[in-house]
Amino acid sequence: MSQRLGESNRILVLNHLRRHGVASMDQLVRDTGRSQPTVLKWLGSLERAGLVRRRGVGASSGGRPPTLFEYDASAGYVLGVAVEIPSVTFALLDLSGSTVASEHSAIQGLGPPAAVHHELHQLTQRFLDQHAGVSSRLVHAGLAISGFIDRDAGLSLATPRLRDWHDVPVRSELERLLERPVVLNHHIDALTLAELHVGVAHVGGDFLFFDFGYGLGVRAVRAGHPLAGRFGNAGLVGHTTVVPDGRLCLCGNRGCLEEYVSGRALLRHAEAVSAHDEDDTIARTIARLLDDGVGARDLAARDEIERFLAIGLANVINTFEQPHVVLSGFATAGGPVFRTRLLERTCALLQPTLAAATSLTFSALPRPEAGARGAALFALRQHLPFADPLVVPVPTGRRPHVTEIDGASTDVSADAPHAQY
Ligand SMILES: [Zn+2]
Repeated sequence: MSQRLGESNRILVLNHLRRHGVASMDQLVRDTGRSQPTVLKWLGSLERAGLVRRRGVGASSGGRPPTLFEYDASAGYVLGVAVEIPSVTFALLDLSGSTVASEHSAIQGLGPPAAVHHELHQLTQRFLDQHAGVSSRLVHAGLAISGFIDRDAGLSLATPRLRDWHDVPVRSELERLLERPVVLNHHIDALTLAELHVGVAHVGGDFLFFDFGYGLGVRAVRAGHPLAGRFGNAGLVGHTTVVPDGRLCLCGNRGCLEEYVSGRALLRHAEAVSAHDEDDTIARTIARLLDDGVGARDLAARDEIERFLAIGLANVINTFEQPHVVLSGFATAGGPVFRTRLLERTCALLQPTLAAATSLTFSALPRPEAGARGAALFALRQHLPFADPLVVPVPTGRRPHVTEIDGASTDVSADAPHAQY
């Protein structure tokens, strides 16, 4: 009991400094309501742990000037690695969750797993070498990968586009390279976590996260907790059958939703694509298709994308009975006309009660950095388990759904810059 009380006092002092930046002993005593010996004890503990440091003295109010304390966000750094074959994204975050460096690289060879793994490690090492001043203080890393995973065992069981990739011990391999602990998560969870803490979603929120990437990823979030499933793919809407005996899918089945609406499906509408400019090509293609001035051929393609996207959205809204959807990925390239039309087409497939409550919110987080950032945020959580570094208590007088990261505030109210449709 007393240990738990001590821990809560430690968190109280730490969170005060995280929220306010700098504070004197008197301020900490006054604001936390704890005694001076208690605050002193836990400040000492946090100083020894390297999380709090002294920052000069404040203005004197007559007596000796007070010593100031601050949260030391540069006491360590976490690395995020997001693998989305055929590319990988890295991000380095400080202990406040701010990104200090990021990079996106194409994977050149998509051959046997060992070769892909070797290249991934070379790219990781190169990124860390480029930021040696920061990466030398690496404390933890997060790895995010799409496909099927065994989070507990640290295995990537299978991943799209790599046929021979089975049961690869991705976590232990990266731990060996970095000589630091690594936490493994599904890529969609990394995107969802980034959205929860620095995007348009909010702490404690209930919503569906729907990612329109190379494939389709869905995560239902209840009270801030994503529902992942045994192999990380709960809500795997991309491989639900929407056209019996339809197009052949990567997974071996026919008529999967992803064959009609996904980055992969978009490539079908693009011309002369080489493996390494797929991102650009997809982005250009969708921008062209979602533009209102499209020609007759593109009009049919656009209709197909909108129609099947609406089917996918309506299916997951029905499945989880959750009408608030955050859309990310290529769909965010669409402008207001596309967004309004998509909402109308989705609502037309829903029962009136759900349709009336449905809203589509479009992510504003830059891709592909969001995945790496989310992976790193998982590492940050693991590194500071005693005080979830992503949840800073809201100061009195602020609305409860505002979260602070990077010193900035993000919310999803109607006056936020991300409009709802
Ligand atoms: Zn499929």
